[in-house]
Amino acid sequence: MKNLLNTLAVAGALCAPAIAQSTQAPEGLKEYVPVLPSVRAKFFDVDPKLGYAVKDVGGGVYVVSDNGWQSAFLVTGDGVIVFDAPATFGKSIPSAVARVTDQPIKILIYSHIHKDHIGGSAAFKNIKGLRIVALNGVADFLKEQNDPDRLLPNETFESQKTIRLGGKTVELTRHFYHSNEGDLFIYVPEARFLMAVDCVTGGYAPFEGFDITTNFREYLKVFDQLLAYDFNTFVGGHLTQTGTRQDVEITKEFTMDVYSTVKRIHNNMDQQAVIAEAVKIIGPDNEFLLFKVVLDKVTQEAMAELRPRWINRLAGVDVFLESQVQTALIYVRWDDKGS
Ligand SMILES: [Zn+2]
Repeated sequence: MKNLLNTLAVAGALCAPAIAQSTQAPEGLKEYVPVLPSVRAKFFDVDPKLGYAVKDVGGGVYVVSDNGWQSAFLVTGDGVIVFDAPATFGKSIPSAVARVTDQPIKILIYSHIHKDHIGGSAAFKNIKGLRIVALNGVADFLKEQNDPDRLLPNETFESQKTIRLGGKTVELTRHFYHSNEGDLFIYVPEARFLMAVDCVTGGYAPFEGFDITTNFREYLKVFDQLLAYDFNTFVGGHLTQTGTRQDVEITKEFTMDVYSTVKRIHNNMDQQAVIAEAVKIIGPDNEFLLFKVVLDKVTQEAMAELRPRWINRLAGVDVFLESQVQTALIYVRWDDKGS
């Protein structure tokens, strides 16, 4: 028994456990807190006939949203640059652009590989001479996939690229806070516009497991990297409103609170005592279960602390809090230094 934790830590290091989400009975859905009124007030006014709304955020940038996903486009003096073509409304982007300007779409930029953000790009395939710009890693992935819904990029770069078109500038910079193949910061300095998909969702706690990040270490850094830019409009790619610096700041505060709370509870817990109690009930053989008892206790104690601190500050805190805690716990237990 005395080496149980070490043994389990090694087993865990080989394969970090996917901790199951608790399933939710239908009647229990009513226990979730409704979307905060302050957030609801900022929903895009989506015309049901069109299926999307377009918001002019200044400097030639327009944000397109169906209140589930977001993309944007920049009107320059010499054509239009589109940032992402979501699977849900990507097919409508060419007509959305045409309602704003007579300029043709000349460039489509992919923020990252995910289908939900670029799976509507097939609607662009008949646009003559279209430049489709993406990271090398994104292009390699898409070539391997050969997915007809995601057009292949024809202009790729390793980590940084500046596009100048019709008097406007777009600065693209690679990060790794979300997906393995890289995630772009898309910055239009003339518009003080910054887009970084799947890290900050204005008004809301992040999506499951800190936006299903594959790299929580990089995710922890993303907020300061964003705040280093001079911007006043932020687009995170999801839900019901555009964001501001304050949205980045509060998501940082939430993330750091989850991380430090999980770390404190995990590192201060007498894990041998917790296991000894469980052994009295199930014996010493089922070591994975004994390990799960420790992880679950950390998760439950962290959630009990965090929920009241955040439930009235961000929408949807109770929806994915367990997964946020589990993502932080995997990092704390397997990657992070001890104190
Ligand atoms: Zn994504």
